[in-house]
Amino acid sequence: MPTFEITPRNKVKRLAERGKYDKATIYPIVDEAFICHVGFVQDGQPFVIPTIHARHEDTIFFHGAKASRLLKYIEAGQPLCVTITLLDGLVMARSVFHHSMNYRAAVLYGRGQVIEEPAEKLAALRIISEAIMPGRWDDARQPTGKELKATTVVAMPIESASAKTRSGPPGDDDEDYALPVWAGVVPIRQLIEPPVADPLLNEGITVPDYMADFVNGLKP
Ligand SMILES: Cc1cc2nc3c(=O)[nH]c(=O)nc-3n(C[C@H](O)[C@H](O)[C@H](O)COP(=O)(O)OP(=O)(O)OC[C@H]3O[C@@H](n4cnc5c(N)ncnc54)[C@H](O)[C@@H]3O)c2cc1C
Repeated sequence: MPTFEITPRNKVKRLAERGKYDKATIYPIVDEAFICHVGFVQDGQPFVIPTIHARHEDTIFFHGAKASRLLKYIEAGQPLCVTITLLDGLVMARSVFHHSMNYRAAVLYGRGQVIEEPAEKLAALRIISEAIMPGRWDDARQPTGKELKATTVVAMPIESASAKTRSGPPGDDDEDYALPVWAGVVPIRQLIEPPVADPLLNEGITVPDYMADFVNGLKP
């Protein structure tokens, strides 16, 4: 898989050895996360808004209500910065100073393009739905024309990106390794729990196989 060009915008300067620019590192981070944060500057004021995203090849898709300020802004082709953070652990060092976190983070840059064409819009919505719960799109009722009209879908071709990752034990100062202080990592994972049925669910409808597989970590 190719690598993003390293430029002043995406070059990791602080702890540069943690920076990575290859799609093979960046895209799995993007794909594992259910949400991202989209940053933009409007009239000099920065905003960073959490939202659902999905990636297909080198494009990120967003969707939302027509009235959403975020969607209105990102469809206008202004510069965007999208961040994704996966927290893997709390790093407990012997000194307060060297405490840290294990993480995989990605920062993506691009500009949004609104998708108007109904078939393309539907395809993008399917990508978003399948990124969250594979199998759901074909199971649930499809959007009506009115629902499609009320939804804005935006594609952001990824122009540039970086990843920054940390893993492993703490890095203490040499003299601190003799201290009688516990050191190590407290791992953190996102927990997916068994589905809870809607109290209004009609009798006889069971959890679909694709959802049971998802809960058991068998995402196809
Ligand atoms: C869970 C977590 C907790 C963190 N806690 C702290 C903290 O408490 N204090 C702190 O100073 N920093 C923390 N960081 C690191 C932080 O994200 C920045 O990397 C760091 O602050 C340096 O920022 P900078 O703008 O000076 O980086 P620079 O190295 O100047 O950034 C240049 C470019 O490198 C890329 N880049 C920088 N950081 C990241 C990143 N995290 N992921 C992907 N690309 C990146 C971007 O493209 C950016 O424009 C944390 C990161 C994570 C993921």
